[in-house]
Amino acid sequence: MRLINLSGRAHLLSRNGAVDIAKVSAGRFGPDPMDLFPQWTEFRSWAATAPWDGAVPYRTADLHAPVPRPRQVFAIGLNYGEHASETGLSAAAHTPSVFTKFASSLTGPAGRIALSGPSVDWEVELVVVMAKTTSRIAAADAGEHIAGFTAGQDFSDRDVQMRGQPPQFSLGKSFPGFGPTGPALVTPDELDPDSPLRLRCWLNDELVQDGHTGQMILPVPVLIERISAVCTLHPGDLIFTGTPAGVGMGRVPARYLADGDVVRTQIEGIGEMEHVFFAPAAP
Ligand code: ZN
Repeated sequence: MRLINLSGRAHLLSRNGAVDIAKVSAGRFGPDPMDLFPQWTEFRSWAATAPWDGAVPYRTADLHAPVPRPRQVFAIGLNYGEHASETGLSAAAHTPSVFTKFASSLTGPAGRIALSGPSVDWEVELVVVMAKTTSRIAAADAGEHIAGFTAGQDFSDRDVQMRGQPPQFSLGKSFPGFGPTGPALVTPDELDPDSPLRLRCWLNDELVQDGHTGQMILPVPVLIERISAVCTLHPGDLIFTGTPAGVGMGRVPARYLADGDVVRTQIEGIGEMEHVFFAPAAP
């Protein structure tokens, strides 16, 4: 199942277009995408036999974040070995580096984003969406607590992130628009569990990141185990799972986003996002 947020209303994606969940379920589910998560199991059973009537075409520009208002957003730093090396920071083998992207940074899979300064960087990431209230779950059982996956970008202002000691990961990665997700929430059954997902990012059509989820140091079930050992996870919570090599700060010289730059983010089996950066007028 593929879920999209079309102008604020939850839709199922079918071959013929988008189906409005609230209309097809006669108001039982939706219309707000956030309404689905507290009753995820019931919603999944209903969707398995839902009448997929009334599919309509839609415009990419009308897509919003599939989970627009999660209660919590977790993000993992340095979860790919080559990326850790290129940043000069060391990756933790057992304890993930966990920070948040504050909810005000979230946005949809298309649109314009204001540059916060001269050191804005890109990070394509697989994002996990939680399905249940989860506490102290073992990695082996984590799968049944996952609603699905979406593509994410962990845009990062490196000057703000690295300023001071210890660094400010959460602030540097939380300017407005720095947390896009989309285009769809894809349930686990749509993806081959034995085949890693390819993650790619293009800057103005130049391929700058090309990795796959098999390169994660701590795989998704282990991340859920480690986070839920401390925090209670809630339906709809997001986990940004880290980025592969190829970010701008790892280049010599470093390369960052400029006015007019287009960033395209793609995860195999999930879909693609596109964002255009602009330099805001001086206040
Ligand atoms: Zn990241």
